[in-house]
Amino acid sequence: MTSSKFKLSKSSYVKGHQCKKYLWLSHHNPEQAAPPSSFQESIFKQGHEVEFLARKLFPNGVSMAPSQLDVLHQTQDTITHGASVIYEAAFSYQDVLIRADIIARNPDNTWDLYEVKSTTKIRKESKDKALKPQYMQDVSIQKWVMEGAGIKIKRCHIIYLNSKYIRGRELDLKSLFIIESVDSDIAIALGDVPKLVLDFLAILKGTQPEVDIGSQCNNPYECPYKSKCWKDVGPISIHCLTRITDTKRKNLKDLGVNDIKDIPISFELTANQQIQMQAVQNKLQINLHEIKKFMTDFEEPLYFLDFETIGYAIPRYQETTPYQKLTFQYSIHVLHNGSLGHSEFFYEQDSDPSRKCAENLIRELRDVGSIVAYHKSFEAGQIRDLAERFTDLAPALNNIENRLIDLEVPFAKFWYCDGRFEGRSSIKKVLPILIPTLSYEGLSIQKGEEAQRAYLEFLGIIAPLKSSDEIREDLLNYCKLDTLAMVEIYNVLKAISN
Ligand code: SF4
Repeated sequence: MTSSKFKLSKSSYVKGHQCKKYLWLSHHNPEQAAPPSSFQESIFKQGHEVEFLARKLFPNGVSMAPSQLDVLHQTQDTITHGASVIYEAAFSYQDVLIRADIIARNPDNTWDLYEVKSTTKIRKESKDKALKPQYMQDVSIQKWVMEGAGIKIKRCHIIYLNSKYIRGRELDLKSLFIIESVDSDIAIALGDVPKLVLDFLAILKGTQPEVDIGSQCNNPYECPYKSKCWKDVGPISIHCLTRITDTKRKNLKDLGVNDIKDIPISFELTANQQIQMQAVQNKLQINLHEIKKFMTDFEEPLYFLDFETIGYAIPRYQETTPYQKLTFQYSIHVLHNGSLGHSEFFYEQDSDPSRKCAENLIRELRDVGSIVAYHKSFEAGQIRDLAERFTDLAPALNNIENRLIDLEVPFAKFWYCDGRFEGRSSIKKVLPILIPTLSYEGLSIQKGEEAQRAYLEFLGIIAPLKSSDEIREDLLNYCKLDTLAMVEIYNVLKAISN
């Protein structure tokens, strides 16, 4: 149990919106939460770097102590002594403690609040471009607490990264960051705060709330209690039904249905959900007509291509933007007349790999033959990005993009559906079922995000746990397996269609 005398913080207030059980567990059983992965830790680190950099927009501020001990008094003293800018100021009101990233005093002794987010998007993609709920909650609880503590807040802002900013030799902070007023966005959420604070405090005083698992477990953030709440969810559970909505989950639960195989025929399912249900009941569903048609698109030589990329919140190299994905590595398996070859690219310098990557790709992929990717929108986006940046290479890169074929299509469209895919089509789900002998198990790197973390270690940007030769080897093995897996999946589809 937490030892703080304050029951809620701005992060627990946001957790309470996500799930009441998450709020309760994080207060009473923090030790049961999954620890952040090494990749998540590197994301938090980037978040701190962004916050520290944003402070430079408001120079000469006074930093409050990181620990809770006496920080409330320290903040009050700092205000009383006339500070005009404070970083991490602390305020409390009605059992809630908040730390404000940046507050700046106005000439009339009111204050402006600045919340820093290491994102390039604070609004939804929807037509109304509403502020994302988690940011609304985050800023409204801060304003409510500060005003309750006697601080008059004139304006609230979010500071975030400008996705269009292209770095020059030096960082231009005024262009890197966007400062956006959110006063009108939080007006309604602010009115809800008093009641929600009472509700959340009552939850914390009570016993663990009963909450069914659902979409909230990943939205807006992946809940660290998933291994606890989802422990009984097996591959044929209704929760693995492709694109299941929370309404459908509830309707099935009301019918007492836990497994896909027990869904009544009369229950309304999408076309893909029906195929998945049949696959769970009868093992495999194959749409031979569509797979045969799909296989006619492949023209030898076949280049099986996979990229690994890295993105930096604060652009690290000239001519790059925040979070721009830079391809530092690729693997290519080439299948031609029954023989299989392999080549790879790995960029070892701490500089922008893009030009070198584009030139090597053009040389290796030549100008005829299909280029096979798994979930090709990713590779296509990277190639388009390179073509936009290096216009002299654009014709060759456009040729590469036009030759891309997406090997995920038969699985994403449920033309090939095995009940054990759990309603998904990612290569990590499909490969172990189609080719059980080819596995990522035993590799030091098993996911794209682990590859990103390893590359940061290779460059020495974060402290490495292995020698650079070992990290390089791990990265090469991982990427090579991805393209070899594609070759094997292609062979399975080919065998079916013949
Ligand atoms: S896993 Fe889901 S149900 Fe469980 S605490 Fe987290 S959000 Fe709530």
